[in-house]
Amino acid sequence: MLKIAVPTHARDEMLDITKQVSQAVTDSGVKSGLCVVFVPHTTAAITINENADADVQRDVLVHMDKVAPYQGGDYRHNEGNSAGHIKSSLFGSSVTVPVEEGRLCLGTWQSIFFCEFDGPRQRQAWIQIQ
Ligand code: ZN
Repeated sequence: MLKIAVPTHARDEMLDITKQVSQAVTDSGVKSGLCVVFVPHTTAAITINENADADVQRDVLVHMDKVAPYQGGDYRHNEGNSAGHIKSSLFGSSVTVPVEEGRLCLGTWQSIFFCEFDGPRQRQAWIQIQ
């Protein structure tokens, strides 16, 4: 398993890590299989979404903040980051992408995004290719 560092820069952020994951696939030598990207954090997540228009990421984050606002929510968790925990669970902690001919099989407009919901922090993504 490969662990990559993902430094984040804001409380909420979607970082495109597709290049790092693609490099991991290349380095693995696997020609056909599955690539799992897992986030070992409880206030971060991983998702696949559009890479062409950055406004998509902005819109996702703005609307997630309406689903689970940082301020004013009916939260009891004493760390004050319940919104991040909720968003993490909504997005999920892993994605699986097929690998064929030694490459990630992503759609034309798809990228793999590390989602920060309680940053900025030093984060990791773990990559397993089989
Ligand atoms: Zn917490």
